[in-house]
Amino acid sequence: MSRSIPFLELAPMHRDLADELKAKFAALLEKGLFSGGEEVEVLASSMQEFLKVPYAIPCANGTDALELALRALEVGPGDEVIVPALTWVSTAEVVKMVGANLVFCDVDADGLMDLTLLPSVISPNTKAVIPVHLYGKMMDMKSLAAIAQKTGIKVIEDAAQAFGAFQGGKSAGAYGDIGCFSFYPTKNLGALGEAGMLTSHDGGLSERLRLLLNHGQPQRDVHELIGRNSRIDTLQAAFLNVKLSYFTPWQQRRKALAKLYLDHLQHLKGIKVPSSILQENHNAHLFTNQTNQRDALKECLSKKGIGTAIHYPLPVPAMKPFGEIDAFPVAARIGKTTLSLPLHPYLREDEVRYVCEEVQRFFNKA
Ligand SMILES: *Cc1c(COP(=O)(O)O)cnc(C)c1O
Repeated sequence: MSRSIPFLELAPMHRDLADELKAKFAALLEKGLFSGGEEVEVLASSMQEFLKVPYAIPCANGTDALELALRALEVGPGDEVIVPALTWVSTAEVVKMVGANLVFCDVDADGLMDLTLLPSVISPNTKAVIPVHLYGKMMDMKSLAAIAQKTGIKVIEDAAQAFGAFQGGKSAGAYGDIGCFSFYPTKNLGALGEAGMLTSHDGGLSERLRLLLNHGQPQRDVHELIGRNSRIDTLQAAFLNVKLSYFTPWQQRRKALAKLYLDHLQHLKGIKVPSSILQENHNAHLFTNQTNQRDALKECLSKKGIGTAIHYPLPVPAMKPFGEIDAFPVAARIGKTTLSLPLHPYLREDEVRYVCEEVQRFFNKA
């Protein structure tokens, strides 16, 4: 019997929530309210409570959040910003967008910025570092904060993949000067379109971020800064308010499915599973493995109807717009060996078992 297990399936979740989501849409349509308003304020305050941060500032998307963070910290031409060599391209793009110089740091075996290398790439021109909680696994933020403090550099956390991860009781995004989140539809908490958010502990910085994302306007017809329009869409804020109330059970579901994967695959020779995925500081965003037979495994699973994804095939510095630089061996190796298996709250246990059986069959045959 041939099966179809897509890498990610959002339709069943939205079928479950359809009545509530449609009611939100109907209410806003009736009001004619499409920008700002109560839903945006409710989202900000719910997020402050959920993440235990004093300031949460919804915005248009995660990439804008990162760029706004750099602008709020006045990072620009002549400044250097350190980003990991392996990440979604946004983390590096925004540094170029504000005119600063990009400095890459190679990653560790888990794909996170290698903190043993970080001090060697910090220079007198370094203004900020952007750690990325890749796959949903948090960086060691205590150690990073210690390095940043000693060298006087700012920390902007790219927590786009890590909503719902906590370390020592503190949320991803709550350690840095500014935390950046994305609610792109495929993230653990996804909008029905584009959305993002910034967090901070600093009231002044938060106010600056709020101004920057709304034309520098504290109120209508008053402009204090050169800003832009990076406001969240009211509809997306409303949809996120619905979805946030389901987030905790979805996370429990992700963890239970991740455990099922680990139970079946962790002793298998030839594949390295994400062994820390059940910890609190991992939000189980992606079940990302490493194997030297990546391409063959991907092909084999695809023939069995199982969708997989590669996060990410190329280190950012190796991409064309970044100069095709091949100087980050760990990031490059992960690019060739990494494979993510399906993991989302609406995946069924029998589907995970089927994926595990096929992975086992592949390695036992090899
Ligand atoms: C998704 C993502 C972003 C960008 O978020 P958007 O909302 O798509 O702009 C940034 N960094 C990382 C690591 C991401 O995964």
